[in-house]
Amino acid sequence: MIIGIDLGTTNSLACYFDKNQTKMIPNRLGENLTPSVVSIDEDDNIYVGKVAKERKILYPDMTADVFKRSMGTNKEFVLGDKKFKAEELSSFVLKSLKEDAEVFLQVKVEEAIISVPAYFNDDQRKATKKAGELAGLKVNRIINEPTAAAIAYGIDKRDENTRFLVFDLGGGTFDISILEKFKNIMEVRAVAGDNFIGGEDFTEVLYRFFVNKVGIDEEKLDKKTISRIRKQCEKAKLEFSNNKTVTIKCNIEDTPYETSVNIDDYEKSCELLLTKIRKPIERSLKDAKIKLNQIDEIILIGGATRLPIIRKFVGKIFGRLPNTSVNPDEAVAIGAALQAAMKERNECIKDIVLTDVCPFSLGTEVSVRTMNNKRESGYFCPIIERNTVIPVSRTETFYTAYDNQTRVVVEILQGESRLARNNLKLGEISVTVPKGPEGSQSIDVTYTYDINSILEVVVKVNSTGEKKKVIIQKGNEKISEEDVKARFEELSYLKIHPRDQEKNKELLFRGERMYEEFTGEDRQVIADALIQFEAVLDKQNSILIEQARDEFKRVLDEIEDEELF
Ligand code: AMP
Repeated sequence: MIIGIDLGTTNSLACYFDKNQTKMIPNRLGENLTPSVVSIDEDDNIYVGKVAKERKILYPDMTADVFKRSMGTNKEFVLGDKKFKAEELSSFVLKSLKEDAEVFLQVKVEEAIISVPAYFNDDQRKATKKAGELAGLKVNRIINEPTAAAIAYGIDKRDENTRFLVFDLGGGTFDISILEKFKNIMEVRAVAGDNFIGGEDFTEVLYRFFVNKVGIDEEKLDKKTISRIRKQCEKAKLEFSNNKTVTIKCNIEDTPYETSVNIDDYEKSCELLLTKIRKPIERSLKDAKIKLNQIDEIILIGGATRLPIIRKFVGKIFGRLPNTSVNPDEAVAIGAALQAAMKERNECIKDIVLTDVCPFSLGTEVSVRTMNNKRESGYFCPIIERNTVIPVSRTETFYTAYDNQTRVVVEILQGESRLARNNLKLGEISVTVPKGPEGSQSIDVTYTYDINSILEVVVKVNSTGEKKKVIIQKGNEKISEEDVKARFEELSYLKIHPRDQEKNKELLFRGERMYEEFTGEDRQVIADALIQFEAVLDKQNSILIEQARDEFKRVLDEIEDEELF
């Protein structure tokens, strides 16, 4: 069984294909969305999802979130006395989804198709693959999120030559893709985006609004209080879906604060963010050489597209209503599951050939002649330009740069900068050439980039016929395989918290968090309820525990739902 996984910045989801349709896989709490949050306790128990999210407020130093933004970097997240990289934290999320899928489907799940933002570079894609492997999953394919979403929207059932724009605003990333469907082929014409903009930034605007309006000195706020204010801002942001005015309420050091925001003021405060969003849209249209009015349909995905100001903004830019018929949270996971079904050659899915684009330019370093006829090295020469449809193979011929040159080093680079040093170095090939005057020897450099993001580089010395080849992904994988194994063992002492106690833990942490947040009578009620629930847990009678859990939840819901003051 191959499952489809949307490994999101804020939430992650798993989906599978069965009997002609896709079905979401609920997690251990019976919910489809698992927050991409990881927390650790002093006994080395790992918590993932909603429980970890509850712990974020209580134990911010033991909890990490939004780590997808750091995939493929060396950033270390410090949780208590331990350090983790983003891919390791992601592996805990994937492991939790895998376990949930196995319990739900009653089969072993060892393979997955995992989605990534179209804008992820090679390092980020590799880190995602490694996260899968650390979770004990074979990553069958990495799929671009907008491509997956377009599949979920049933591209194969659309008219010929329909052009789509997929607008994906998640928690922390923004992606734009332009796709075109013709015959049985779906082609991604362009991708653009911004890895540093998402729904969280729209929460941040409300946070700033609140802090300024109520006039508290932010410097004096501790992490826990900041976390609590953000939570209230997030809640208020969601309320904009149904209300023109929302109220942010928060107790700070026992003083209640509140402020109201209307949607027009909020929209104005978000102007800068909206301008940022406009840029990748313009860039993708330019790259695809498509005019705004040639786009037939706009698909909105990602939780943050539920914000009315986003829908209004998209409507205004494109002059028509976007398509939102598939749940924006689920579209990517559904597409990944459909892709998994295609992969398993399930007859139920019409075979559509998918083509994709290379989201970044791939090239090499060259020297150029400057105005005063001097040679200057360090310049980037693209061989496969960004947004080229893949699979693709391109050959460029280069000549020796100085007299009696005997060696040519081909640097393999990825990026958009004119200067080679600003781009990401993926590898290099060095060949020997016969001596001669400048420009007398030539080499052919062939870059082949395939649908699985594997880059093959072949360098051929034309006079001698000598050929050298490097396969970038495979080459690096060897090292990473050992890496993965070693880290797999290192991490094995960490236990994912037993799933059968998850509901209890979530409520216990919630109770503890609320105890800290509330005062007076409510606080006493929470304390009493906590003691009662803990006493029942000690008895280890599952029927009694279930009853007590319902009652405990009812008490907490009642307090949290009632007006704060
Ligand atoms: P995703 O990464 O696709 O799960 O998107 C998560 C983001 O969507 C978070 O920033 C949420 O705050 C945001 N979001 C979810 N539902 C809504 C809603 N009804 N209104 C505004 N933002 C939402």
